[in-house]
Order: sequence, then C-alpha cells, then structure tokens
Amino acid sequence: TTTKETRAFQTEVKQLLDLMIHSLYSNKEIFLRELISNASDAADKLRFEATTDDALFEGDSDLHVLIDINKENRTITIRDNGIGMNRDEVVANIGTIARSGTREFFGQLSGDKAKDAHLIGQFGVGFYSSFLVAEKVTLTTRRAGVGSEHGVHWESKGDGEYELETVEKATRGTEITLHLREDADEFLDDWRIKSVIHKYADHIPFPIRMQGKAEAPAEGEEATPAEIETINQASALWTRPKSELSDEEYNNFYKHIGHDFEDPLARLHQRLEGKYEYTLLLYLPKRAPFDLWQAESKHGVKLYVRRVFIMEANEELLPRYLRFVRGVMDTNDLPLNVSREILQQSPAMDAMKKGATKRILGLLEEMAGNSDEGNSDYATFWEEFGNCLKEGVIEDFSNRNQIAKLLRFSTTTSDEQFVSLSDYIGRMVEGQDTIYYITAESLAAAKHSPHLEVFRKKGVEVILLHDRIDEWLVGHLTEFEGKKLQSIAKGKLDLSGIGGDAEEEKSEREEKARAVEPAVEKIRAALGEKVKEVRVTDRLTESPACLVSDQFDMTANMERILRQAGQ
Ligand code: ADP
Ligand code: MG
Repeated sequence: TTTKETRAFQTEVKQLLDLMIHSLYSNKEIFLRELISNASDAADKLRFEATTDDALFEGDSDLHVLIDINKENRTITIRDNGIGMNRDEVVANIGTIARSGTREFFGQLSGDKAKDAHLIGQFGVGFYSSFLVAEKVTLTTRRAGVGSEHGVHWESKGDGEYELETVEKATRGTEITLHLREDADEFLDDWRIKSVIHKYADHIPFPIRMQGKAEAPAEGEEATPAEIETINQASALWTRPKSELSDEEYNNFYKHIGHDFEDPLARLHQRLEGKYEYTLLLYLPKRAPFDLWQAESKHGVKLYVRRVFIMEANEELLPRYLRFVRGVMDTNDLPLNVSREILQQSPAMDAMKKGATKRILGLLEEMAGNSDEGNSDYATFWEEFGNCLKEGVIEDFSNRNQIAKLLRFSTTTSDEQFVSLSDYIGRMVEGQDTIYYITAESLAAAKHSPHLEVFRKKGVEVILLHDRIDEWLVGHLTEFEGKKLQSIAKGKLDLSGIGGDAEEEKSEREEKARAVEPAVEKIRAALGEKVKEVRVTDRLTESPACLVSDQFDMTANMERILRQAGQ
C-alpha cells in the first residue's frame, strides 16, 4: 500500500488562503507569531498529558522551540518538541477548518478589504498564515509516544492541494519549513526574526531559541561550534508583577491567548490570596468573535495549575454569559491531573469562578462609571456584548442586581442604547413609581406603538425593548432598586396621579367611560369569545383602540417569538 496521497483543501480553507493573502499582505510578520503560538500550545499539551504518562517525554523534557534560518536555501524552519500529530490529526487540523459556523463566516465577507481584514482577525488565520511569506510549506511531525515509523510529512504550495506521506521521524514534535517567496527576503535576516520574536513571543513560557551559524575557521584554527541562543524571556507573563509589564506586553499576550488581531478593550490582572490562591489575567475583546452566538464557541479561558496548562474551558471557569472573556486563571489549589468532572465539583474551582465573575463585573462597573455617553469603551462593550449581560440577569441570580446596573436601553427619549435603569429612575416624573417598558420586534415598531400615546402626553419616559432576549429579561427582572418594571402593553394601567391632578383626572375619566359604555357594549357583543375583555382605556390619546395582554399573559411580542420558534 502506498502511504503517499494528494488531497484537496476544504473549500473554506481555499477561501481563507485567498482572503488572507489579499488582506494581510502588509502584516506578513504575524506568520511567526502564529507558528510559535502553535508550538507553544503543543508544548502545553504534551506537558499536560505527561503529568499522567511520563513516558511521553521520551527522555527529553526540555520543551522549547528552535528556529533555524537557511539563507542559501531561502528557508526558515520552526521546530518544536511538543505533542506532535498523527496522520489523522494532520488531516483534521491542517487542511480543514473544523469550527462550526465557518461557512456562515465566509458568507459575511463583503469584498471590501478593510472590512474583511477585520473579519479575518476575528476568525484567526493560524497555521495558514505561513502562506503570507512562503511559496511552499512542508511540515513533518510525529506524535509523542508512538514509534519513529509513524512520522507524517505534509507539503503544500497553498494552491488548493496538499501532499501527505507517512515517514520516519526520530524525534517527536513538529518541524515546519517555509520556502520563502521573493518578496519575503527580510525574514532571512536574524535580526528581523529576533525582533519579531520579542514583539510577539516574549511572554511564551517556553524558550524560543535560534540556531546560530558556525563561523568558517581561520587558517590553522579549530572550528567553533555553532551556538544556540535563547531569544525570549520565557516566563509566564501572568506571574510577573504588574509594575514590570507594559501595555504592549499585555496586549501581545492577549493576541496569543485570545487568537485575536486587535488589542483588547480592557484587562484585569490580579493575584488573590485567602482560602484559595489564584491569579487572574483576564481580557475583554473589542469585538465579538463570529461564533459568540453558536452553541459551542471554541475559545475560552485557559486554566493553569502551578503554571502548567490544564485545559481551555469556559463553562467550568466562568458562567456562560461571560463566554466572551479571554485569558488565564492559574491556581495552586488543584491537582495537576484534574479532570473536567473533578473541576465541576471542586470547591477551589467554585471559589475561583465566583471570584473571577465578581472581578469582571467590577471591571465593567468601573468602565460604565467612566463612560461618557456613547463614546466610550463601555459603549463599545455594550454594543458587542450587551446581550450576553442580559443572559446574565436571567442566569445569575446572585449577581442579578449588579448586572442589572450594567444594562443599557433605548427609551422614548434616546434612540441609542445608553440609558441605564438608574438614569431612568433619576428622570421619573412626579408621582411615578414604576419603570415602564414596551417590547416589540424592532426599535421602529416599539417607537410607533399606540401604547405610548398617553406616556408621551404625560412626559413619562418608556424603555423600548426590541431585542429577542428582552422578553426573557423582563420575565426575570421584575424589580430594580425597589421600583417595579411594568409592560405598558399588559394589564390595567393606572397613570392617575402621574404628571397631573389625580382626583380631577379620575372623575373626568369616569364620566367619559359612562358616555361611551353603550358603544363598548356593542363591541363586546360583536367580538364575543374572541377577546377576554373590552374596556375603556386612558392609554390612548390618538388611536381609537389597541390590543392589550392580560397582566399574567404573554405579550403579543412574546407570542410572535414563540410562533417563529415553531412553538
Ligand atoms: P488554532 O491554533 O487556532 O487551533 P491553527 O491553524 O494555528 O489554529 O492550528 C490548527 C491546529 O493544528 C491546532 O489546533 C493544532 O491542533 C494543530 N497544530 C498546528 N501546529 C501544531 C504544532 N506545532 N504541533 C502540534 N499541533 C499543531
Ligand atoms: Mg494557532
């Protein structure tokens, strides 16, 4: 049987390659960041697997990355002694994109380079960025713990196909050789490579070494052996004191760990001591990842135990509504061989999850406090992740009030979503004791609802809810700081006493009701069983009639949502 075969890239990989080369040509150097980042992930994985099976080290536990430049052949080789891959893994990881939502992602591309470059940043280019500088890429790899005959050779020109072959490989790990294109000459220069490593990889907790070149010996002298030089700091960034770290270092670490091209929006870095000891280095991205609303999003927060990477897992480390947070949690209070099942029941993990949640909410509160309407980091945050916080109100009972303070809404006085519930309360008119809202399928529909007429007349602000999740939100958030939230499309509305003379209004209303009673009787008779009740209202000032839900029934908007969901 032949072990050599040629395979085609998945369509999406071809699209990604095209897009990448067109939108990232001015930022070629990131290929090195991506490849070092992968090598570091591979070292993390090996170190973790080796905690239960020491043999995987094959007698070599000096985990590192070695970079070798060959000017004559015009190649750069990046070699790691991490976990490596078997043939199936190569096929699955290099040549396909397994992330759910990939097709939808490509559907969003506009052809506008600037916009697409942003999208691709969210998506992450990873290994494929090799083709920014290389006309041909070869990868040879062997998984830790298997025989040397199980090596795999992969090779491609990035033109839609790749070759695959089973080969001998004595050492475990992955070796990637880039055959540089004409226009990528700069990367044959040691200094250029070193500066890129400093820029993007100082924080990688494994040594990144460079192979020096042996000098030709002078007449009559012995050749000196080529030296290997370690380039990066190789210490875990989160263990270093804040005072030593620059924004740039923090941001570069974020890009590595968050698989993002852009700087983060905010960060928090804290060492916590007490019953449990742990360190948090957490970031808020500037932009929602494309798969934020997919059931399973790929990236999350990384858990380390005593600086050993354990797993990337959001659900265990943070509540689901904070799934946009990226970063690291490191603790001394868990065993190295911790499993997901142990994590879920561990009091240390529980304390860490609660502590991290509190601190993230605290960070958001601080950002919201500094917020200068609509032109602030908090506004950016709200735009991207506001709906996640609404989930928080629904899911996280213990922090409900704190999260509710972070919510921002459009109202009848502001189309933009910048009004907090506290702002609203501060603007209540005399006699008003309730927070009024209306839910609708769009902002326009909410704004034009006939239910608003009487509120306009009385100068009472109404919150306009028009996101799908809002119906659930108000189902759970029934009160805020002692004020009830009430739908203006539900039940009887008693607005007497708000913005006017209660007694006078009441008698006026009763008189009017008596006058129209015969008409109401006729309507009742005509509609019969189709409605629960027909009543005279002071909701309206211009429209003749409107439909209202009973206090404890679903609103019309909720019925619409459930109908759409096929219920
Ligand atoms: P990502 O790192 O975001 O998963 P990449 O395109 O960078 O995406 O890499 C794809 C996958 O290929 C990785 O998740 C990993 O499984 C595998 N991989 C890449 N480089 C290496 C390597 N040096 N050693 C082992 N596996 C690797
Ligand atoms: Mg990667």
